[in-house]
Amino acid sequence: MSNLRFQVVAEAFKKRPLEVETPAERPSEFFAKYVFNREKMYKYLPLDVYNKLIDVIDNGSHLDRSIANAVAKGMKQWAEEYGVTHYTHWFQPLTEGTAEKHDAFVEHDGKGGLIEEFSGKLLVQQEPDASSFPNGGIRNTFEARGYSAWDPTSPVFIIDDTLCIPTIFISYTGEALDYKAPLLRSLHAVDVATTAVCKYFYPEVKKVSTNLGWEQEYFLVDVDLYLARPDLMLTGRTLMGHDSAKNQQMDDHYFGTIPERVQAFMKDLEIQALELGIPCKTRHNEVAPNQFELAPIFEECNLAIDHNMLLMSLMKKVARKHGFRALLHEKPFDGINGSGKHNNWSLCTDTGVLLHAPGKTPEDNLRFVVFIVETLMAVYRHEALLKASIMSATNAHRLGGHEAPPAIISAFLGQQLSGLLKHIVNSDNETLFNVADKKGMKLDIPEIPELLIDNTDRNRTSPFAFTGNRFEFRAVGSEANCASAMIVLNTAFAEAITLFKERVDALIAKGEDQTNAIINVLREDIRTCAPIVFEGNGYSEEWVVEAKKRGLDCETSCPLIFDHYLKPDSVAMFERTNVMKKNELEARNEVKWETYTKRIQIEARVMGDLTMNHVIPVATHYQSRLAKNVHNMYAIFDESKAKSLTSRNLKIIEEIAERTECIETMVENLVEARKVANKIESERDKAIAYHDTVAPIIEDIRYHIDKLELIVADELWTLPKYRELLFIR
Ligand code: ADP
Ligand code: MG
Repeated sequence: MSNLRFQVVAEAFKKRPLEVETPAERPSEFFAKYVFNREKMYKYLPLDVYNKLIDVIDNGSHLDRSIANAVAKGMKQWAEEYGVTHYTHWFQPLTEGTAEKHDAFVEHDGKGGLIEEFSGKLLVQQEPDASSFPNGGIRNTFEARGYSAWDPTSPVFIIDDTLCIPTIFISYTGEALDYKAPLLRSLHAVDVATTAVCKYFYPEVKKVSTNLGWEQEYFLVDVDLYLARPDLMLTGRTLMGHDSAKNQQMDDHYFGTIPERVQAFMKDLEIQALELGIPCKTRHNEVAPNQFELAPIFEECNLAIDHNMLLMSLMKKVARKHGFRALLHEKPFDGINGSGKHNNWSLCTDTGVLLHAPGKTPEDNLRFVVFIVETLMAVYRHEALLKASIMSATNAHRLGGHEAPPAIISAFLGQQLSGLLKHIVNSDNETLFNVADKKGMKLDIPEIPELLIDNTDRNRTSPFAFTGNRFEFRAVGSEANCASAMIVLNTAFAEAITLFKERVDALIAKGEDQTNAIINVLREDIRTCAPIVFEGNGYSEEWVVEAKKRGLDCETSCPLIFDHYLKPDSVAMFERTNVMKKNELEARNEVKWETYTKRIQIEARVMGDLTMNHVIPVATHYQSRLAKNVHNMYAIFDESKAKSLTSRNLKIIEEIAERTECIETMVENLVEARKVANKIESERDKAIAYHDTVAPIIEDIRYHIDKLELIVADELWTLPKYRELLFIR
């Protein structure tokens, strides 16, 4: 058996970094080169059209169809200067990726020839043949076709020869078939509800927007090694592989210098991302070997999500060019850290106030406390739903491990802020503030210094942590569309802040003064949401016990966690905020369960194939070699000597026999479990069956394969090992 693995490893080792030319211009100069941003709108659109478009973008005014033609014309003119010949509606179906269908800018000219054309109608709306996108039955139920509609708040951009137009994707009856439509509705809900509450403090506020700063973690693997691992190729993770003797125990990767080939890749990626308007700022090694992170500066939430989707696809493309594959799976390797995507979330007003940052005046501080407490209320009321929003077949491997937040949602505030909330609960209104003060209101809410920002980021084990001027939702998976988490967080917040205002207004109507009313409601809410606040070690076993006592959701089965989307509280929340209707939620859950099943199904099939085609043949081959050796020994030596000399080999022969037999039986069980599960009609029950009966067998088989990897001769093992996958770059 010639060992392909050795050849592949040798090739991978030899690779040198690609030369990446440093652009002649500075980043600020080539930033957004391929984006039709305001500067280009101004240049390529007639002034009245420009003004109307800006009004649509900034103030959400209705898009006047009459300007669409002029906008399309300007876009086309700009794009053609870069040799663009095609356009596409770019949308985010429920598959975690993006979808596009390219059309050329050509139309009949009526004289038997063609002309280049791009009309407003094509910019604004299209009907992609979307029957193959997951829709959870919505499109069948409503016999409605899907269409994509332009989202003017996210600028169009150019990739290669194509003008990409960010769009929502909905059915003709208005049901969302994508992530962007409900996201935009949730952002609107936050805006309306929060602006109303802002009026208590800053009457001039007209708009509140949501910010998102994501931090994308990923692994890089050399492409040749990747291609020699069918499991990585087909499932995104290694289904087998014994721990490398050295992995992350030295903690040397995080602080280490970035390897040269990787550095070239990062440089290339960043240049291209900047040209697409993604404001890349931070890059570094992560904890695990071959694991890295890229983070841009935060942006408005909708734009940030588009940029994350764009970056993930760009990352895959640039990685290929550099002879790597980028792994976005949450847990590509067992036994070392997985990848997440922290979502840094905050709110700000059109007047420039960041609602989650401590203020300088007493009014500012009261406002700050309101937004903190109502965020906690949102998380408290919908903790299980928030968990559902980040749950997937792939992220399930990461959560609950000793590296990522547990499968329990809690919020971390830090000592200072917790102390402040306690102070409010324990003091009466007279000591808390003194209306008679000359400057107006004087609150005995201790000054919240800037220092807070440094003091809040210490607890890395919390899934939802306050970090000075934002909340960091850390449970989001690296592969996920952030919109899933953001839709739930935004909607829950919009609901919390609306309920807050209703209660404050009710008190005011009864004659209570505004500040008194606010503090009374806050005090009640601080008490109510106390169970969600946890400052201890989120990775500890005691926390699971404690969380159960507090009534927090501790379920770990992914298909069951999805049920929370359909609980009455969740449906009521989505409906009262106009973010999603019950039938949309039901349809999306069908997709979630179906996707879960498919991922496990693929893993099970790949496991079966690899076992039968790689593992067992290699192990038995080695076993025969040992058996031959045993025979030879008996031919050479007398029986008692041969017996003692062959005892070790006999043991290995036996172990291989036992393990392969075990594996074969389990593979049969795996096939059987799949057959039974596949017969189940309901997507939910099928997903549960896959979770309960199929997935565990995959892990059991792995255990034996990893043991075999340890005893079989290295030169016979065909699949690249962890030490190779993780350390070659
Ligand atoms: P880390 O969390 O690893 O310490 P950083 O402090 O660099 O990382 O921030 C991570 C992300 O948080 C970046 O995308 C950054 O732009 C974003 N961020 C910073 N301030 C805010 C804010 N007020 N709202 C939303 N995101 C923010
Ligand atoms: Mg962070």
